[in-house]
Amino acid sequence: MSARILIVDDLAPNVNLLEVKLQAEYYDVLTANSAYKALEIANKEPLDLILMDAMMPGMNGFEACEKLKQNPETWHIPVIMVTALEETKDRIRGLEAGADDFITKPIDDFNLMARVRSLLRLKMVTDQLLSHTGHTAGNSKPLLQEINQGAGKILVIEDHDLRANKIAKPLGKTHTVTVEKDPVKALKIAKIGMDLIIVSLVSDNFDGLRICASLRFSEQTREVPILVVGDPEDEKRLVRAYDIGINDTLMRPIELQEMRARVNTLLRRKFYADSLRENFNENLEMVVSDPLTGLGNRRYFERAIEPFFGAFEASEEAFSIMVFDIDHFKRVNDILGHDMGDQILKEIAARLVTNMRAVDVVSRYGGEEFMVAMPNTNAEDALIAADRVRGLIAGTPVFVDGQALHITTSAGVAQIKEGERLRDIFKRADSALYKAKLAGRNKVMVAGETEQAAA
Ligand code: GH3
Ligand code: MG
Ligand code: MG
Repeated sequence: MSARILIVDDLAPNVNLLEVKLQAEYYDVLTANSAYKALEIANKEPLDLILMDAMMPGMNGFEACEKLKQNPETWHIPVIMVTALEETKDRIRGLEAGADDFITKPIDDFNLMARVRSLLRLKMVTDQLLSHTGHTAGNSKPLLQEINQGAGKILVIEDHDLRANKIAKPLGKTHTVTVEKDPVKALKIAKIGMDLIIVSLVSDNFDGLRICASLRFSEQTREVPILVVGDPEDEKRLVRAYDIGINDTLMRPIELQEMRARVNTLLRRKFYADSLRENFNENLEMVVSDPLTGLGNRRYFERAIEPFFGAFEASEEAFSIMVFDIDHFKRVNDILGHDMGDQILKEIAARLVTNMRAVDVVSRYGGEEFMVAMPNTNAEDALIAADRVRGLIAGTPVFVDGQALHITTSAGVAQIKEGERLRDIFKRADSALYKAKLAGRNKVMVAGETEQAAA
């Protein structure tokens, strides 16, 4: 089921604009043209997020937000306040009214989706926590407030004193902040239990993206929220950062209120998740991600590929999938041991994810099988991509415990056909994979009427 978002704005064109953008991401969208209408809807409909225009005739967005946050039945729904550009006063007012975040008009798509996703994740953990503790929205306030209390431990990775100070000083008033300039030391500190890591993408002496990737690949830091600081012009790297698994972004020049809002949301989510784990020995991320490789698992893949089917049905936008399987992996395990096998799996996963596009969905589908979905890609292009990755894996030895190992993979590729569901297209890709194995391995085959081979 997709998340339900309520858009509140008195101007119909504004509502429509947001509605189109959110529906394109397959969210379930409701709309209201006044604050009164919004409160009415929020009282009867389950909602996951509200986008609230600040300036409306009659009751304005700030008052509506205050009312939502005072009502025990609706206070837990995240609210994003939509304000006019550069109105710092409005932002402060919004936060005082209890808004969880804000975006400024004109609304930038990248920023909008980042805010929406971040708050929906928070809502997901909140819901999970409440349902596990047997709380309802109405009686959850004391529980959540207790968890929210307490300062967070924040690590700031930035090599420039002034820039680091600009982050550390204001946050240091409420939280325990450590600044580290050296990436190697930073990765060590990160492992001793941080609640939030802020990584600079604008540092002169290290590559912030690389740090984010290391943090996500290491077991001890996989789940710690990451907030990256970047320049708006650097959208490509920011998109890449999301692909690596960071949680939120902060654009320069950094605005204090905005930073506080983002930090608060991430810390809340972390505290709720911690509490879930401590009390229920469970963790939301575990449900969808594979602990060994850090990639999404089968469940994640099934969820992430849904929009691809939607786009195909709606506008015949073709997509393709590929199934990668390591060659003779049983033999590798037998000769080198299971632990070495695990290290190889990790390395292959890393090569796959770093060599696909940001929009591709990469997952560990089963034991030593990886599944990739490529949106807006026909079989011909998918074959080229798959074969490139196959070549990269076969062409560079995998180093484990100082040993250089020659590992190869085989892959099957299939393009979506009319009326197919995941199991159908998977079946075709899997039989293409089988043919690649039969043909001698270290090969890619395409499923379809005319079998095509590469390598
Ligand atoms: P083929 O080239 O035909 O794919 O041969 P294969 O030996 O890889 O055959 P198959 O795919 O059937 O075997 C999969 C093996 O992968 C079996 C299992 O030992 C190993 N494997 C699956 N999951 C894991 C894992 O998490 N860690 C390790 N080390 N090995 C795994
Ligand atoms: Mg297999
Ligand atoms: Mg295999």
